[in-house]
Amino acid sequence: MSGSRVLVLNSGSSSVKYQLLDMRDGGRLAMGLVERIGESGSRLKHSPADGESREWNGSVPDHDAALKAMAAELDRDGLGLGSPELAAIGHRVVHGGLRFTEPTVVDDAVLAEIERLIPVAPLHNPANLTGIRTAQALRPDLPQVAVFDTAFHTTMPESAARYAIDVETADAHRVRRYGFHGTSHAYVSRETARLLGRAPEDVNVIVLHLGNGASASAVRGGRCVDTSMGLTPLEGLVMGTRSGDTDPAVIFHLMRVGGMSADEIDTLLNKRSGLIGLCGDNDMREIRRRVDAGDERAGLAFDIYIHRLKKYIGAYYAVLGRVDAVAFTAGVGENSAPVREAAVAGLEGLGLAVDGGLNAVRGDGARLISPADARVAVAVVPTDEEMEIAAQTYALVNDSGNQNLT
Ligand code: AMP
Repeated sequence: MSGSRVLVLNSGSSSVKYQLLDMRDGGRLAMGLVERIGESGSRLKHSPADGESREWNGSVPDHDAALKAMAAELDRDGLGLGSPELAAIGHRVVHGGLRFTEPTVVDDAVLAEIERLIPVAPLHNPANLTGIRTAQALRPDLPQVAVFDTAFHTTMPESAARYAIDVETADAHRVRRYGFHGTSHAYVSRETARLLGRAPEDVNVIVLHLGNGASASAVRGGRCVDTSMGLTPLEGLVMGTRSGDTDPAVIFHLMRVGGMSADEIDTLLNKRSGLIGLCGDNDMREIRRRVDAGDERAGLAFDIYIHRLKKYIGAYYAVLGRVDAVAFTAGVGENSAPVREAAVAGLEGLGLAVDGGLNAVRGDGARLISPADARVAVAVVPTDEEMEIAAQTYALVNDSGNQNLT
């Protein structure tokens, strides 16, 4: 295999995000986003590494048109999909079930399995499949690699992965805890070990991925042993618009007493709960502004968010037994000093503390925010899911290329 570039595609139901990376040096050659696919007012934003960003609004009726628009923009920068430099396309696929524990070169059987998982990922897997099929049509000769959000969590023991419900019923419907954001948890736990100057195998980390979606994971020696999302990304932490943990009986109550349908409750818990349901805003910047101005609803939303976060830190401390680091990542984790401070406040007994000065410093790279003599490191570690997908994709096609030679 000669090329060193990998195109990373993250295909959602109405959007495609892409990045073109050169794996010789990890350089980002271009990135972009096509939004509102199949809706009115579609939009493309394309940013080459060495040039001005370009934007246009127009009609993008489907994913095929979206990828063709992306390809045309890459062509304009001399980075077209026809280039022999392109080694592979790496796709983010949300649900890989139990079968996909590693990145996988896509063939018909893999596509069929991703399709079989649609009932447990009805919002995501269909869009991911469309992205793969469309990219295959554009470059049929190129390896397409699926990198699964669930893969990192397949090392969870059964004690963490199973719900305590009737085993036959659960198995018949593939009901268990799969976990998501795995690419981020894998990347951040490894980068945290690197920040500490230690091998991932020697380090236990609690990773807090706090974005609009949010999840925590307990990582022992580089392997995930528990994570807060479950069958779907609804379980666990309080998120931007999702409730996280609730008593399942809330659903029956809302059906029987509130007269709501399953679909209405699904929308309530996924789209109208979490921070937005509690206070009308899901952007932590706006919530903090309101808290600082004395807004009580925003204050309560913030407190509920922090209370849940703290419970998971405590739970994963107990799961791991020994914790070397707590790592904050994603939009809120990387940028909100008040969230980091509040999440760790009062946990000195567990060896956890943040240094106010270090926590307040804004920076791009991975950094420690705990006092120098802290028993447990607290760190801000920016996530980079695209880089991780590209690295896994490149490693896989290089490996299979080498195997073909021998
Ligand atoms: P993500 O899903 O990782 O892109 O994170 C998006 C979320 O990060 C937004 O909804 C905000 O709540 C949060 N966020 C982004 N920038 C900041 C910031 N400077 N301060 C606090 N929160 C932020």
